[in-house]
Amino acid sequence: MGVTKMGSLGEDALEYHRSGRPGKLEVNGTKPFITQRDLSLAYTPGVAEPCRHIHQDSEQVYDYTTKGNLVAVATNGTAVLGLGNIGPLAGKPVMEGKAILFKRFADIDVFDLEIDAYDPDQFIATVKSLEPTFGGINLEDIKAPDSFYIEETLKKTMKIPVFHDDQHGTAIITSAALLNALKVAKKSIETVKVVYCGAGAAAIACAKLHLTLGVRPEHLIMCDRKGVIYEGRKEDMNPYKALFASTTKARTLEEAVKDADVFIGLSVKGALSVSMLQSMAENPIVFALANPDPEIEYDEAKNARFDVIMATGRSDYPNQVNNVLGFPFIFRGALDVRATDINETMKIAAVKALAKLAHEEVSYTVLRAYGLKELSFGRDYLIPKPFDHRVLFWVAPAVAQAAIDTQVAKKSLNLDNYKESLEQ
Ligand code: NAP
Ligand code: MG
Repeated sequence: MGVTKMGSLGEDALEYHRSGRPGKLEVNGTKPFITQRDLSLAYTPGVAEPCRHIHQDSEQVYDYTTKGNLVAVATNGTAVLGLGNIGPLAGKPVMEGKAILFKRFADIDVFDLEIDAYDPDQFIATVKSLEPTFGGINLEDIKAPDSFYIEETLKKTMKIPVFHDDQHGTAIITSAALLNALKVAKKSIETVKVVYCGAGAAAIACAKLHLTLGVRPEHLIMCDRKGVIYEGRKEDMNPYKALFASTTKARTLEEAVKDADVFIGLSVKGALSVSMLQSMAENPIVFALANPDPEIEYDEAKNARFDVIMATGRSDYPNQVNNVLGFPFIFRGALDVRATDINETMKIAAVKALAKLAHEEVSYTVLRAYGLKELSFGRDYLIPKPFDHRVLFWVAPAVAQAAIDTQVAKKSLNLDNYKESLEQ
């Protein structure tokens, strides 16, 4: 594979990564470590005491070690960004980057795990064996459908939360944006016709969560490279696509989007043409989320239809669907109540918190960070901005509360005090 040229940004990125100590992370101690006595507390003989306590009562691991604030970002490098199967070693900069986002946005520590295991069962066995180390597992950039099987199996067998961000992070953020876009369009989730372009990890997870939120199965059509996934189709199917096979006469994306209210693109650049957009219902909701280039360019869509309600994965246009709005805060909430899972109720709590926050007044600090004069709920502001510090204390407590309500929390919290502590 050739090294692509990104111009000065690419050169700056190389310099950023190699300058000083190569990479983006280091391990830091959190306790005094200066004297002979510190040495005997931190290591032998003193360290034997917390070991004994944990051996007697495993929950005490959360009192004496980093487990409760430590997440694994685990990959085998088979679907890294838009780069494809570049393997675990070449994927390491991405995983280190994810670690930094966890730390900066939610003060969660991460070990990035680049695992040389392409066989899903071998990958599963490796991650499962690391359960003692971590408070949660963030699966990352693993190709579909292996990622579905890996996540399902690990969720069943591990007693800590397992969350495949490429699936659920995307599903949560698009759901928040969708609920708000429907408000702008004055349409109800129960009646809208939704078309998914893409039937991979992200699209399937989005469709599942959108159904939970109220989209009717008979109003949903999913398309892949071969066109509509219809009942009875044999070619290029898998059990995950089969769940969304529809009874429709439409066979192409073009036929599917005619009169549709919502287009969710999680496929490739250029998949939605201007004429397809023009055939959609009024106030069409278009989430063109392929990265780095969307299914239809923002300006092209806006020029074609003044009534389009548009989101992309890009930071240079309004309504960026970016997973960083989700995973740091979802894990923060889950870790703080020692949740054993991140379940549907917790995901929906995150969706609702994000959707609600977009209706609040935007602070001067956020406006300044984005060089904006004004920002208020509407077509161009459907979801909060990643640098809005309120996302932490809106989303994490909502997720923690949902974990408590659904009895997956091993620890209870006074939610008001918790929220206050996050605000500081
Ligand atoms: P994936 O698992 O590889 O799935 C890609 C899907 O797109 C496959 O189902 C593929 O069809 C389909 N596809 C490819 N070309 C198509 C075309 N011309 N028309 C219709 N469908 C087509 O990848 P993924 O992880 O789901 O990600 C998909 C895209 O979404 C990527 O561009 C990714 O960057 C983007 N994404 C964005 C965000 C965000 O927040 N903005 C989050 C997640 C993903 P087959 O099944 O037939 O191969
Ligand atoms: Mg990813």
